[in-house]
Amino acid sequence: MKAAFEIPKNLDYNRLGLVAGLEIHQQLNTKHKLFCNCETRLVKELDLANSVQFVRFLRATRSELGEIDAAAAFETQRGRRYIYVMPQDCSCLVELDEEPPHELNREALTIALAIAKALNARPVDEVHVMRKIVVDGSNTTGFQRTAIIALGGYIVDEEGVINIQTIALEEDAARKIAEETSSVTYALDRLGIPLIEISTAPDIRSPEQAKRVAEKIGLLLRMTGKVKRGIGTIRQDLNLSIQGSPKIEIKGIQKLELIPKVIQEEARRLVGLLMIKNELEKRGAKAEEIMAQTPIDITEYVKDCKSNIIQSGLRKGHRVYAIKLPYFDGLLGVELQTNRRFGTELADYAKQWAGVKGIIHSDELPNYGIDEQTIALIKKILNMGERDAFVIVVDEKEKALKALQVVKERACQALYGIPKETRGANEDGTTRYLRPQPGAARMYPETDVPPIKIDETILREAEKLVPPPIEIKMEELTKVYDLSIELAKQLLYSEYLNIFEELIKLYKVEPKVIATLLTSILGELRSEGLDLSVLEDRHLHMIAKLIESYGIKDKEVLKNIISLIIKNPGISYEELKNVVAETRISEDEVRRIVRIKIGENLEVVKARGEKAFQFIMGKVMAELRGRIDGKTVASIVKEELAKIFKSSV
Ligand SMILES: [Zn+2]
Repeated sequence: MKAAFEIPKNLDYNRLGLVAGLEIHQQLNTKHKLFCNCETRLVKELDLANSVQFVRFLRATRSELGEIDAAAAFETQRGRRYIYVMPQDCSCLVELDEEPPHELNREALTIALAIAKALNARPVDEVHVMRKIVVDGSNTTGFQRTAIIALGGYIVDEEGVINIQTIALEEDAARKIAEETSSVTYALDRLGIPLIEISTAPDIRSPEQAKRVAEKIGLLLRMTGKVKRGIGTIRQDLNLSIQGSPKIEIKGIQKLELIPKVIQEEARRLVGLLMIKNELEKRGAKAEEIMAQTPIDITEYVKDCKSNIIQSGLRKGHRVYAIKLPYFDGLLGVELQTNRRFGTELADYAKQWAGVKGIIHSDELPNYGIDEQTIALIKKILNMGERDAFVIVVDEKEKALKALQVVKERACQALYGIPKETRGANEDGTTRYLRPQPGAARMYPETDVPPIKIDETILREAEKLVPPPIEIKMEELTKVYDLSIELAKQLLYSEYLNIFEELIKLYKVEPKVIATLLTSILGELRSEGLDLSVLEDRHLHMIAKLIESYGIKDKEVLKNIISLIIKNPGISYEELKNVVAETRISEDEVRRIVRIKIGENLEVVKARGEKAFQFIMGKVMAELRGRIDGKTVASIVKEELAKIFKSSV
């Protein structure tokens, strides 16, 4: 890969003038949805398959000011079909926009007010539901209902105070379950689940600080005991800028740990784009010259080329088009984020706006079976100078031409700086172009839902849900439940604090055993690659009951039980109990095996004396691991060895 320069990986965020804000969306664990009485759970795949479907199209409508929103226009021009799957119990005519929304869910409002209080924010006097335009079909109405609940809070971070701008209640969007170029399929079970949205001011100055702030807010949310847990129940959006860049929005960071990485990668991209702008200026690039380029059909010249991409395109009747990008030599190959180059940015635009599979650019050649000879030929056809680059697209004529038009426009933008984009977070912490940022005038009142006065009654209800300060909670965990500070901390920052409290209230179990189960044991299983997302609260209740009935403490035994549940999530308590009872052996049986092992190794035992303990322990555990805890075995081995030595004296 050819690259004109490299962008440093370790950036001085202070010097760059990094400014970031977080938007945290957390699903509330209410009985009903925000504007109807449907359940707030996601259905299984099988139930989706048996559900009714509806098809809709989206059209961009002019706002009251007569403008078409850039983001809406973008989605409309894609002309996609939206398919909505409507699972029973979890969706009704409200989600389908065939019935007006009901009154705002009071339970959700109460929880939101409690969270507002915990974040030192000031509740509004009256809650007004607004409509926020959404353009990706994720809402059947074409807008999302949202209501500001409180303003002006703050949290204290070690590097300074982070202000909270707004706390809002929102309806969650429909759940995307399939996506093709021409259609998107959404499940309506998630649509309307209450979400609390907490927006911080752009007070964050470093990737690490962003993580701490998100962690602290997440902890406060969980401590209310009223939020949902598991993948997808909390989502973080980020906005950030550096000096000389516009504010970039990044959507959908699902993992907290990823936040610092996303900021690092995005800051690097912004630095890189500014460097590219400088370089283009230095080279004397002119916008008119770039825009004057037209795509050229090079199909006939490359039809014998060995490239698979080209050959398979030709078999489908596709054409090969190329365009010259004056002054871009070496710039398309500049790495802006890990494994993402400026060429990748151009490809994103081509994919999103023209629906092509991708582009090929000159900085990555020779490659893909395109050799020096072909490259030289293309350069000649395009009349290229030494500092020029080119881009090729293989597709149907119309799509290819559109893609190259978009590529040209995006390349030209590089001369002016960084475009205002809404980007999506990738799983590796890099980001990709999603769409232009929507205009500001996107909100208008929801006339179907009456405003709600925030009175003393609801504030008093909310007061009961306000979580205690973190220090008080820590004290309770360490003093009342006798957890070590380390274990208490782990539990506090895990998503299992609420279920922990529930389990130790319901079952006669040692809090330490349950806390260890929910932190280190689940953690180990996760790192062993087990998919813990299938583990539901009812499973954890079953495990607690088993611990109560059988006095299970051993880590291996617990790990076995959980693995069993994950392999078979439908397993009943009775079945689980039978398996455990079967594999679990009685102390008498253990004693029998210990005696056999001692008998088999009597010579060694006598020779080693007291030191034979480890030896026998190893032999016995090799046979019994996962069926009984090591502590019980150890005490039996000790007893039996003592008997031997006594008799032999
Ligand atoms: Zn409903």
